[in-house]
Amino acid sequence: MTTTSYWLDEPSEPLPLRPFAGPAEVAVIGGGVTGCSCALTLAEHGVKVRLYEARQIAGGASGRNGGFALRGAAVPYDVACTQLGDEPARAYMALTERALDRMAELAGDALRRVGSLRLAFDDDELAALRTEHDALLEDGFAVEWVDELEPPLAELYRGAILHPHDGALVPARWVRRLARLAVDAGADVREHEPADVGRLDADVVVVAVDGLTASVLPELAHLSVPTRGQVLVTAPLPERYPRPHYARGGYDYWQQLPDGRLVIGGQRDVSFATEDTDVEETTEVVQGSLDALVERLMGPGANVEQRWAGIWGTTPDLMPLVGPVPGRENVWVAGGYSGHGNVPGFACGDLVARAILGERAPELALFDVGRFD
Ligand SMILES: Cc1cc2nc3c(=O)[nH]c(=O)nc-3n(C[C@H](O)[C@H](O)[C@H](O)COP(=O)(O)OP(=O)(O)OC[C@H]3O[C@@H](n4cnc5c(N)ncnc54)[C@H](O)[C@@H]3O)c2cc1C
Repeated sequence: MTTTSYWLDEPSEPLPLRPFAGPAEVAVIGGGVTGCSCALTLAEHGVKVRLYEARQIAGGASGRNGGFALRGAAVPYDVACTQLGDEPARAYMALTERALDRMAELAGDALRRVGSLRLAFDDDELAALRTEHDALLEDGFAVEWVDELEPPLAELYRGAILHPHDGALVPARWVRRLARLAVDAGADVREHEPADVGRLDADVVVVAVDGLTASVLPELAHLSVPTRGQVLVTAPLPERYPRPHYARGGYDYWQQLPDGRLVIGGQRDVSFATEDTDVEETTEVVQGSLDALVERLMGPGANVEQRWAGIWGTTPDLMPLVGPVPGRENVWVAGGYSGHGNVPGFACGDLVARAILGERAPELALFDVGRFD
């Protein structure tokens, strides 16, 4: 059984090379969704931008994740309102909704806007869903309460809310497409080229490595903790789940692909102690727990084809870590999406690019590195 990501195994055209001579105005470290989004916006504005990716485009979390394209923050909307205040939480939600719409314009067949279903595992989670549902509705964001669940969900979960405009991503396909758009716009994108933040010849450096932030910027190690997530994919199964589903605060999540394959991840809560790591390896305990969830959702006999792991960065308040890096001149960081970076990463890469261009969006204040001082 391979331990490479199913998404990364999809054959793709090699990325065209459009190197330019001399120093870059902006150097971006990291070829995931954040770095590619940042490079695209800068290149579209005529900036000489060079992106360095140590492995391949989408080789990190962006090509290893569950493929959920969700609006909002890592915490539910009502929690964000309490944490950030109503107006900033609304602004963050609106930012990610705009980002999702933009992704839909760019992603082609890598994004299906099929909505997502947040399920309640027990009475407490059902009450939490009701609170999020009411908060979204009150602030004018689309959401639907779902009472009737189909079997086997009806036996496993208590109820659900539908986020109708969320989507299902083919994540590596999407980010490769984004990288190609950046190259077409003039970015010099270099795969298999690790970069050292202190040695780059550029006016500004953007560090966009999410779960590996501490390895590039050790002073931020306490603010972005590497966290491992594990995933598996089965052979095609009868169609049952038309959209991404998640429950137990995200510890159970799955989506079924158009060909019937089930992509399923989570279960970190069976072994928290081993999962705070930057080692991209699967473990028997988490994978065994994923197998058990596949059986509950699909019945016995599913054939697992691939298992893999990826790393994201978790911050103390689960909000992104985006802004100038204190103590370093002209170095920005963008990451720390706390396991929820597909849409925020796309949005934040663009926000950083725009800030470098002189348009500092108010939302950046929410993600400032100095907020923990
Ligand atoms: C298993 C798993 C499941 C997830 N599920 C979801 C989900 O369903 N929905 C969601 O919204 N989010 C999910 N996430 C989180 C999401 O994938 C990430 O937050 C997001 O992809 C981060 O993108 P990024 O571009 O910031 O970082 P990454 O995609 O991690 O890219 C960083 C890149 O930097 C490169 N790099 C590192 N150091 C250097 C260096 N020195 N020089 C050059 N390159 C370097 C790495 O090789 C890597 O390719 C999941 C994450 C994981 C791991």
